[in-house]
Amino acid sequence: MIAKYIRLLGILLLLLTIGPSLALAEAEDNEEENIYAKRMALFKKTETLTQIPWYYFAAIDNYERNMLENEEEEKVVSISLKPEVWFGAGNIASIKEQEIIELFNGKGKDGNGDGKADPDDPEDMLYSFANILLEEGPTRDDIKIALWNHYKRDLTVQTIMNTAKVFKRFQNINLTDRDFPVATGYNYSYNNTWGDRRGFGGLRIHEGTDIFADYGTPVKSTTYGVVEMMGWNLYGGWRIGIRDIYNIYHYYAHMSGYEEDLEVGQVVKPGDVLGSVGSTGYGPPGTSGKFPPHLHYGMYKDNGKKEWSFDPYPFLKKWERMAKNK
Ligand SMILES: [Zn+2]
Repeated sequence: MIAKYIRLLGILLLLLTIGPSLALAEAEDNEEENIYAKRMALFKKTETLTQIPWYYFAAIDNYERNMLENEEEEKVVSISLKPEVWFGAGNIASIKEQEIIELFNGKGKDGNGDGKADPDDPEDMLYSFANILLEEGPTRDDIKIALWNHYKRDLTVQTIMNTAKVFKRFQNINLTDRDFPVATGYNYSYNNTWGDRRGFGGLRIHEGTDIFADYGTPVKSTTYGVVEMMGWNLYGGWRIGIRDIYNIYHYYAHMSGYEEDLEVGQVVKPGDVLGSVGSTGYGPPGTSGKFPPHLHYGMYKDNGKKEWSFDPYPFLKKWERMAKNK
């Protein structure tokens, strides 16, 4: 009898300690889902007002969010316009009446009909940005030109257009799934070799992780994204580059070949087979077998100004766990 009470007491204490943290985690999850739902509602509302498909807004917003350097508090919408663009160059007092802004050739508009064109209001910001896009026209090519006029950078335009393609395909902006780049049912091994020195072709720093596996082991996309690059490269052999929706370029090298029908511009998702492990590279097209078969996997971040390589190893460890728990 007493033992039963002690057991009950134990369970009760356990519930008291676990309960609140579970509730907190759940609330955080809900909050995260909420922000995606809020964004989606805003994007669709702006589509209704402007006829520009929602996924372009989603892609621009996503790009801007991924360019932020410090971990600021997550805003509903990260798209922004410079104050002088919003208010107009001569509107020093930052008057928010749309008529005044127009007098100063500002681009700020009142999207939600509250009488003010407020750059801190996400609806006003989206609507204003949409109108900048509409200056060129509503088609895909028009949007591309408008984006180029705004950002003046090819890679930025390409990234946004690719991300829009991904969002359109999956009809979802909350795409957090990932996979390991080598099929985990096969034999493979890898260590953290990022930054090691390489001899061939001058001293280069090893920008990636080598995952050793047998010839023919499936190579899979780790992320949602678009195939940006395919073909032969002197060092990489048969390689493939995928730009994901977080301004990150994923580089797969030394493959023995590509999955049939895979092509540049194609949308991929985590787990999609790209090809298989090989030992190509370090010579003219077709060179193979100069080193043991392995997948070289690299990651490059773009911040809107430059791209740089960073260590994929911690991410691979995480995605490996995710893949094995599927
Ligand atoms: Zn490598």
